[in-house]
Amino acid sequence: MPDLATARMLLDRLVAFPSVSRDSNLDLIEGVRGWLEAQGISAQVVPSPDGRKASLYAQVGPALPGGVVLSGHSDVVPVDGQAWTSDPFTVTERDGRLYGRGTCDMKGFDALALAALVLAKRRGVKRPLQLALSHDEELGCIACIPMIDAMAALPRASAVIVGEPTMMKVVTGHKGGMAYWLRVRGYEVHSSIMHEGVSAILEGAKLLAWVNEQNAANRAARPGPLAAMFNPPWTTVHSGQISGGTAHNITAGACEFGIDFRVVPGEDPDHWRQAFYAKVAEVEAEMQAVRPEAGIDVDERFVVPPLAPETQGAAEALARALTGDNARHVVSYGTEAGQFQVRGWSAVVCGPGDIAQAHQADEYLTVAQFRAGWDFMEDLVAGLCK
Ligand SMILES: [Zn+2]
Repeated sequence: MPDLATARMLLDRLVAFPSVSRDSNLDLIEGVRGWLEAQGISAQVVPSPDGRKASLYAQVGPALPGGVVLSGHSDVVPVDGQAWTSDPFTVTERDGRLYGRGTCDMKGFDALALAALVLAKRRGVKRPLQLALSHDEELGCIACIPMIDAMAALPRASAVIVGEPTMMKVVTGHKGGMAYWLRVRGYEVHSSIMHEGVSAILEGAKLLAWVNEQNAANRAARPGPLAAMFNPPWTTVHSGQISGGTAHNITAGACEFGIDFRVVPGEDPDHWRQAFYAKVAEVEAEMQAVRPEAGIDVDERFVVPPLAPETQGAAEALARALTGDNARHVVSYGTEAGQFQVRGWSAVVCGPGDIAQAHQADEYLTVAQFRAGWDFMEDLVAGLCK
């Protein structure tokens, strides 16, 4: 029977694939598919449009609705510029910790889920256990939806457990988010006659002023019941990067910057999306009234829906029964749970490890959390056998 040692062996193998989001993850996916096949489990691979990457899903147990999905992502963030004590792509155990890129976020959970799948098969579960392993999560959950849609081929599960690190606490809500990159194209003239040109910087500043206005208004408003659980309890809009212009006496021909939103559950990200695009159109019209060739190009990097706490949610009830955690937890990072929920699944976030260790140099998962994750899997499979 697969046990904690099986999961640990899988963790070693998964971490050894340097599946940084910017690179292909096909080696990892093929490794997982091949290993599952050797265990008698056939997995479906969902290639990305350019074929450089893939997601994977699988099911064990009878083809019946009412099962459970274990959802993880295969990609990890880069290690560039980080000072690691040991090789990030080799799991190194010291002082009760498993060091390695992705041990916490979230190959630890992936390894546990894979071992659980085999355990479920050997034990002969009466309801299915499904695995969803995505890619490009770290780029903004941009590849989850095609995999979720492909999973419509399986009998509908009643609960989704997204195993992002929560210290095995049951997280029932998170903010959603959207990120945009804007390229403002101005028109260069000598700044003494700036009224005949278009300053990409000053036009861009109108959008940033709008950002500040939204934050001030959101902060001043009374939070709704869902928003009240978050810190801060309002939707935030942020710009973390900007560049532009060439000289103090030339109206800037170009200015680029990012704008991103963190949207509280209970608010529609599409409302914010439309408000943002309306403001962009307004500023662009003002620019083009001076110089028709000026304009603003918007690159939508990602849209991640919020996860709203469910009323009588099946995933929450399951995760609470398995962990014994009955406290209320929400987080401010986005996960794929919101995307499952938007597609009609009941979903929570619950996985081993502390988000504080994610993305860091010397990222680690404690052996104790890994074991707690395996206990969760054993109890989950036992429940599916009943
Ligand atoms: Zn993650």
